Amino acid sequence: MPSQHTAAAGQEEHRRCSRCQARKPLSGFYRNPASVCKACHNAATRLAGEVRRAALAQLVRAHQAEYLRLLAAERARRAAIPEPVDGVGGEAA
Ligand SMILES: [Zn+2]
Repeated sequence: MPSQHTAAAGQEEHRRCSRCQARKPLSGFYRNPASVCKACHNAATRLAGEVRRAALAQLVRAHQAEYLRLLAAERARRAAIPEPVDGVGGEAA
């Protein structure tokens, strides 16, 4: 990936964030997602993480007995089956 430093190359390209509508230099954006600025993307990522964690905690609290039973079953299953060599990232959105 090219990361040329073009401080003296004149006008820096700007782009409008589709979320906060602010015009920012390209350095204020990630390559992906390209239409949302870093600040918005970071805020969204953090919020999503907090929401997920809170939802999970709520779920666990509501179904604690069942959760513990499933957890024990999952542990027993993992202990019985050897770990897969090729770790496929199961963190799909
Ligand atoms: Zn933004």
